[in-house]
Amino acid sequence: MLFRRIVVNCGLRIVSILRCRSNPQQHFASSYSNKSTIYALSSAPGKSGVAVIRVSGDESANVIMKMTRFQTLPKPRHATVTNIFNHHSGEHLDKAMVIWFPRPHSFTGEDVCELHVHGGNAVVSSIFRALSELPGLNHAEAGEYTKRAFLNGKLDLTEVEGLGDLIHAETEEQRKQALKQMDGLLKSVVETWGKDLLNCLAHLEAYIDFGEDQHIDDDVIDDVTTKINSLAAQIQEHLNDKRRGELLRSGVRLAIVGKPNVGKSSLLNLLTTKQTAIVSPIAGTTRDVLQSTIDVNGFPVIISDTAGIRDTTDVIESEGVRRAKEAALIADLVIFVIDAMEIIQSNLTTYVKSINKQLDCINENQRTLIVINKIDLMKSSQMEILKSSLKNCDSDMMVTTLSCTTQTGFKQFLNDLSNQVKILCLGDDSSPFSPSLTQERHRAHVANCFTELCHCQSVLKDDVVIAAEHLRLAMNNLGKLTGKIGAEDILDVIFRDFCIGK
Ligand code: GDP
Repeated sequence: MLFRRIVVNCGLRIVSILRCRSNPQQHFASSYSNKSTIYALSSAPGKSGVAVIRVSGDESANVIMKMTRFQTLPKPRHATVTNIFNHHSGEHLDKAMVIWFPRPHSFTGEDVCELHVHGGNAVVSSIFRALSELPGLNHAEAGEYTKRAFLNGKLDLTEVEGLGDLIHAETEEQRKQALKQMDGLLKSVVETWGKDLLNCLAHLEAYIDFGEDQHIDDDVIDDVTTKINSLAAQIQEHLNDKRRGELLRSGVRLAIVGKPNVGKSSLLNLLTTKQTAIVSPIAGTTRDVLQSTIDVNGFPVIISDTAGIRDTTDVIESEGVRRAKEAALIADLVIFVIDAMEIIQSNLTTYVKSINKQLDCINENQRTLIVINKIDLMKSSQMEILKSSLKNCDSDMMVTTLSCTTQTGFKQFLNDLSNQVKILCLGDDSSPFSPSLTQERHRAHVANCFTELCHCQSVLKDDVVIAAEHLRLAMNNLGKLTGKIGAEDILDVIFRDFCIGK
């Protein structure tokens, strides 16, 4: 039986092992035409004190020698101040700083030189003209330096994505997350999983090949089972991270909902610190969903102000109400605004508990922050009653009081909002780790890897050969995540968002 399995398995394994162990990044690199030397402005376009022009490729040394008239290349990675000339016309173009990065110790892994020139448009244009007249040089395409870095094995795909996120980071927490990814946080997690998988696979292969002849202990299967169980549990923990990394990367969706005239638009304007929405005592002013992105304590939040939810026969308003409910349903966090005068007349706990039913647009598991607005209109005796009802309010939802007009309670509201957003993006104190999956692409490959591990677990005791094949498939998915496998298909998508010069 074991012999039959080995024979059947041979063809399968040769293909699989080749698939697992060849380095498609290198294979792809050899088919990628990176013979030309590229140049581009790596600093922002426009007038500036200094502009950095980066040159990458075999001609980089030639560029330095011809444009500086040096007799020998400068000391690697040391800044040298020198005159820059047009090699053909001999014209003096600028006084600049030159740095030489011989391969492989450069960003792209190729020979690189950087020209730190004065950041005037005419200076940069004259240097570009001089570069274009040198043989073998082409202007770089968007993301081409990073693409070369990937193809030369300097960065894996997750690090490339981290770099892209770092360039696009708008808030402090996005910057921190992107930096961690660029520094290889996700890569190291995936590499550890990959090593464990390879180890299990090696044991299974040895068992398949030599199990009977060499008396390999049957404990091998038990050991591998234990390792795979532990690995599957770790991976599942990452998959159960409530998409925190993705939320932080793309922004927490927050919907402000409530009846008409309770102060939703006033709250949006307070949050965005400008007159984003029209505020009016006429009910039904906001008819569409208005979106704004703000930074709440370092976290990106995409706020949607919505039409007041009520029964209406007006066709346009009812479409607004439908959109409001939709925005609330897809939101990660809902702010439900109530008019304080309405709450006076009812029991707070009952009112708060009835909110889901009242509007049937909030999913029960959704984080909801209830804002009792217009407290400036309350008499002090009413305020006392409200305060004591708040203390005794028996609800999981958070309730806060506010006056958009006087801004009383706004600081506390911002604090509550920031805590909620932080929990959504980073988890609470019980969260075991900071999230490392920051994109749907990562999640899909990790989920596929997990599925293969589950298949492996279910057949391991009965069919070691099939179990081993599932382990290979699990490894392939990790390879796709880091770009070792199948990167050709997604490179264009990833580099599309990069700018020229990066
Ligand atoms: P929305 O329909 O829920 O978006 O409500 P608006 O923001 O347009 O406000 C409706 C009315 O309530 C406007 O006249 C606002 O000036 C008023 N309003 C909003 N917030 C407060 C508040 O805290 N106190 C008082 N007194 N009036 C407010």
